[in-house]
Amino acid sequence: MEKVKCLIIGGGPAGYTAAIYAARAAISPVLYEGLEPGGQLTTTTVVENFPGFPNGVDANALMSDMRSQAVRLGADIRRGAVTAADLSVRPFKLTIDGSTELEAETVIIATGATAKYLGLPSEQKFRGLGVSACATCDGFFYRRKDVAVVGGGDTACEEATYLAGLCNKVYMIVRRDVLRASAAMQERVAATPNIEILWNCNTREVLGDSSGVTGARLERKDGEVFDIAIDGFFLAIGHHPQSELFSKWIKTDEAGYIVTDGRSSATNVEGVFAAGDVQDPHYRQAITAAASGCRAALDAEKYLKR
Ligand code: NDP
Repeated sequence: MEKVKCLIIGGGPAGYTAAIYAARAAISPVLYEGLEPGGQLTTTTVVENFPGFPNGVDANALMSDMRSQAVRLGADIRRGAVTAADLSVRPFKLTIDGSTELEAETVIIATGATAKYLGLPSEQKFRGLGVSACATCDGFFYRRKDVAVVGGGDTACEEATYLAGLCNKVYMIVRRDVLRASAAMQERVAATPNIEILWNCNTREVLGDSSGVTGARLERKDGEVFDIAIDGFFLAIGHHPQSELFSKWIKTDEAGYIVTDGRSSATNVEGVFAAGDVQDPHYRQAITAAASGCRAALDAEKYLKR
């Protein structure tokens, strides 16, 4: 059976950055990219807030460059997904694509999180053409335009207030007559004049043409159906951390995010580290994921050298 010193699971900014640092630390990282190489960032177009790119950078190019950098430094990056894990034994035992088994002295979990979508065909059709699940990533493209945010939690309120600073008008599409968000966030929304909450509304369809999103068709609880004119449709109905595979051994919070120890990337299982969105319900940025990947590689290196 193949034995690896440092197994990195996940091909997003956290995983690739962990691979760059682990390769330079000469701990021979092997990285499995999973089903979505490049991670969530590849669902967006241009990244304007990753430092070092004064004119912005194509999201796919950024991920491909991170990958190439890791390969050049000696990381072994492979197609394939980890489909089973036994973290109760030493070395850890992992299964790739349901068949190949390998042993790992350390594991860095960087499997990310996926944004939840409503599941409408029209939403899928306009993904990247006005439909987005990240206001911080894409809000800038809607300056002085009208947009909508779906959801009534802290993320929706945060994204709506962020967008309100850029956009002409922000609708919040809320399915109940109350917000789930904390009182402080609700107050911020209430104090922002260009946010209008559409209570008791569900989205029936995202409307658009060849240029992208032009509106949304909503249905109020009382049955009234009406359209709003918007250029951007932002989902903020929660994220789903991809931690199930490890949850038998690794401590997670009630939403499934892996719990790490203080400022380190250490999980409750010695030798297993977590980086990126799978352990971060708050920041969820490419740059913060990359930074936590760096921490995880340094932590794994320290652990191996002990
Ligand atoms: P939440 O699960 O808290 O909220 C999701 C929101 O989306 C709810 O309003 C929910 O409605 C709505 N929703 C869910 N599914 C649908 C659907 N199919 N159609 C329409 N609306 C839907 O997720 P968040 O991402 O907002 O927050 C996750 C966690 O992160 C929370 O614990 C939150 O407190 C925390 N967080 C904290 C922040 C901070 O402190 N600054 C910032 C961001 C997040 P309903 O209420 O009806 O279920």
